[in-house]
Amino acid sequence: MEVEIATIGGYEAVGRQMTAVRAGDDVVIFDMGLNLSKVLIHDNVETERMHSLDLIDMGAIPDDRVMSELEGDVKAIVPTHGHLDHIGAISKLAHRYDAPIVATPFTIELVKQQIKGEEKFGVQNDLVKMEAGETMQIGERNELEFVNVTHSIIDAINPVLHTPEGAVVYGLDKRMDHTPVIGDPIDMKRFREIAREDEGVLCYIEDCTNAGRKGRTPSESVARRHLKDVMQSIEDYDGGIVATTFSSHIARVKSLVEFAKDMGRQPVLLGRSMEKYSGTAERLNFVDFPDDLGMYGHRKSVDRTFKRIMNEGKENFLPIVTGHQGEPRAMLTRMGRGETPYELSDGDKVLFSARVIPEPTNEGQRYQSEKLLGMQGARIYDDIHVSGHLREEGHYEMLDALQPQHVIPAHQSLKGFAPYVDLAENMGYKVGRDLHVTRNGNMIQLTE
Ligand SMILES: [Zn+2]
Repeated sequence: MEVEIATIGGYEAVGRQMTAVRAGDDVVIFDMGLNLSKVLIHDNVETERMHSLDLIDMGAIPDDRVMSELEGDVKAIVPTHGHLDHIGAISKLAHRYDAPIVATPFTIELVKQQIKGEEKFGVQNDLVKMEAGETMQIGERNELEFVNVTHSIIDAINPVLHTPEGAVVYGLDKRMDHTPVIGDPIDMKRFREIAREDEGVLCYIEDCTNAGRKGRTPSESVARRHLKDVMQSIEDYDGGIVATTFSSHIARVKSLVEFAKDMGRQPVLLGRSMEKYSGTAERLNFVDFPDDLGMYGHRKSVDRTFKRIMNEGKENFLPIVTGHQGEPRAMLTRMGRGETPYELSDGDKVLFSARVIPEPTNEGQRYQSEKLLGMQGARIYDDIHVSGHLREEGHYEMLDALQPQHVIPAHQSLKGFAPYVDLAENMGYKVGRDLHVTRNGNMIQLTE
């Protein structure tokens, strides 16, 4: 059987992930993501109303025109998890394919909300829920399997397409977490089994985000302990404490909520995306928040809550807000600019349970936000965080477990691929033979 890979998006930079695998007559698409930084750099762009081709020209969504070169039928569109760089282009591209969108329950719910917000296209694809550990027949000779992985968002999987020529394992995005705060540990046992079954692993496509960082990525339970240490150290402070983190990082939000309660403060989630992700996770029973946890997204209800906090005493609350990257319109940035009823005082604490995404725009905005907060007297606690992506030893362990015949580095720029290429070559792979460094819009023929 012929197996080929179309590397559509995410092979020149992080963002707008999209890869298609053709096995015989069947094609499966993995991810359809958005490169948000290409959108945010323009003022007042509303992607909801934009046409796909304009977004492709901006570099915001994958240029899927290469799909016309694949001779087969698309049988499934499979987003691996709910981050925007993996699902953000579904509302712009999925309607071009007569295929269901297959994902885990939390991811499907986020896809559903995204399609609802779309104003230009009517996306009618079936939404099919599939849990980690489950399989689905693809055409007559192929099978799709979801293997449970751990990442900075819940319900993440690595999809595997089993073909008669061997398994194609799509490895975006994960870290190796054996003690996650929510959900099951990464299923390394299953990855090792897949390597030993039938034809073994034909191809492994890997997320190189942190390939250049030595050692291993710590577990979420390490970030949780770090957070606990910080929060215990300021337990007796009788002024304002504010925290921010990735709104999609439900495990982190859960830790913040629990430690706020331990400190005797009422946690409250503020900001549209805080309400969206945490509300969805709670509705689907991934997390059990206290009954009195308030979640407010709309500007009016947020301002009302801030007024209540000022009236009842800042020392009784812990607002958990958006704005960890210094995004100009996010809550924490507005607080820094003095645009909310919440007044910061000398010595008040601001906890960043996030790392700045190393990109000049983010770094500049975050710098500005921290300066503004500092000018109002706030003390900053930075980097209370662990990454959701594998580092060098995690990459070594994955290659060692899977023993793939071919390896394709993804989810990075050419420069970002370099440390991964070094590692893979040290393990016996060779660029141009079985290690395929590629760009967006290419085809890689694995078997004939
Ligand atoms: Zn991700």
